[in-house]
Amino acid sequence: MAFDVDLFVIGGGSGGVRAARIAAEAGARVALAEEYRMGGTCVIRGCVPKKLFVYASAFADAFEDARGFGWTVEGARFDWPRFRAARDAEIARLEAAYRSRLAKAGVTLHDCRATVADPHRVRLADGREVSASHILIATGGWPVRPEVPGADLAITSNEVFELAGQPKSVAIVGGGYIACEFAGILNGLGTRVTQIYRGPQILRGFDDEVRAHVADAMRSRGVVLELGRDIARIEPVGAEKRIVLTNGESHVVEHVLLATGRAPNTHGLGLEAAGVALGRNGAVKVGDWSQSSVPSIYAVGDVTDRIALTPVAIREGQAFARTVFAAEPTRVDHALIATAVFTQPEIGTVGLTEAEARARGPVAIARTAFRPMLNVLAHRDERMLMKLVLEAGSERVLGVHIVGHGAGEMIQLAAVAVGMGATKADFDRTVAVHPTAAEELVTLPAPVEG
Ligand code: FAD
Ligand code: NDP
Repeated sequence: MAFDVDLFVIGGGSGGVRAARIAAEAGARVALAEEYRMGGTCVIRGCVPKKLFVYASAFADAFEDARGFGWTVEGARFDWPRFRAARDAEIARLEAAYRSRLAKAGVTLHDCRATVADPHRVRLADGREVSASHILIATGGWPVRPEVPGADLAITSNEVFELAGQPKSVAIVGGGYIACEFAGILNGLGTRVTQIYRGPQILRGFDDEVRAHVADAMRSRGVVLELGRDIARIEPVGAEKRIVLTNGESHVVEHVLLATGRAPNTHGLGLEAAGVALGRNGAVKVGDWSQSSVPSIYAVGDVTDRIALTPVAIREGQAFARTVFAAEPTRVDHALIATAVFTQPEIGTVGLTEAEARARGPVAIARTAFRPMLNVLAHRDERMLMKLVLEAGSERVLGVHIVGHGAGEMIQLAAVAVGMGATKADFDRTVAVHPTAAEELVTLPAPVEG
């Protein structure tokens, strides 16, 4: 049977864009539908605008620290609308670059919603249908709101980027990546931040020492961190909102930001009717090759609920396109994926946490917590944490955990060494780069076993 296209990609985010481009460059006839803005969550309302916010917020530290280095900084003020305009211009530039790169590769773009009509047909919002040999679902995720009264009075990470002015006060619900990053961003910019998390410590899943270190640092920077608290309801109070907790406490704030996780974006896509098996939270169930239960339909990125990070979605999209359209069977290795959390201070981590490693066998820990050179003259007490989780005996590095300035940059390179099976002796053999903070990683004290 002759199909209109070889590949129809639904979703123009990190995974979909990469897959479409690689497939088209391999000679496939490719179409892609995007219902919002090209570039997806990462470019439009995720990693990129978030990181620009992190940079903006970090100037507060720089102005404060500058005094210790002899500077007088007077009248420094943050102008939210001015920042927003600059940020939005950069995002528009990136979006245009994505479009032109896809067009240059020969991908046909449809600026509309698309759904799956059957295993080989996609229906566009205007009712037109396109037949395809393969369909790629790359529709990403969507913020989840807890089911409490008044939840719709709150904003999510989608809307936080749209705020016209800087909020005076914000209550952030959640203890994950987005909650902790925005607590730091807004606090740094001068907003009064209360972060409310239901568990005993923020950042569940990260190394316990890292979690405690970051929580302490966030508190000393002014974030009011309320742990072991659950949200009961949200009520309007004039132009403000009252967030009421299950223990009866409440806070009146300008905005409540719900950062309570994201769910795969499959609602109303027509997948179940086409026979595609969905898992937890509506995620498309896929095997190692990102193929769904229907052989002609594949899925990559957040919609598969594997690891919700941009570089992972890109890798999955690329592997799919190479496998199916370039005759280069490529699988994505989901082990040992490094990640950074752009909290203040920042986290960089790869591999096992101490608790995960202990559950597998005997371990040794090499660690240090020190005051980096910058902080001494800046009169800043904040310490940097570096920790290697080692297999006892061989001292193979199972995990690296860094908290502090540049942690995200450092972990990228540490991940290369860990992926190659480096031991503590390999780290120690590497001559330090001085004076840096990273040199502490190769001059760590002898590990402690048990
Ligand atoms: P997306 O990028 O979400 O793209 C999916 C696209 O599909 C969207 O553009 C959507 O409009 C479109 N779409 C959905 N349904 C349809 C349909 N039916 N028809 C047409 N189009 C449709 N990751 C990192 O690695 N580092 C970070 O620093 C980072 N920061 C983040 C900050 C925030 C606030 C958020 C929310 C996420 C962040 N992430 C970060 C995660 C990262 O953004 C995602 O993992 C990544 O964007 C997933 O890519 P994707 O292609 O799977 O989906
Ligand atoms: P996370 O899964 O990281 O965190 C969700 C948080 O919400 C958790 O603390 C969770 O608590 C809490 N929560 C969930 N449901 C409820 C509820 N009903 N009531 C109260 N609290 C609740 O999701 P995020 O939304 O922060 O981010 C989504 C994903 O996007 C991340 O997992 C990450 O993969 C990616 N991302 C990556 C970034 C980066 O690379 N720097 C930055 C931002 C996002 P509990 O832990 O108890 O379940």
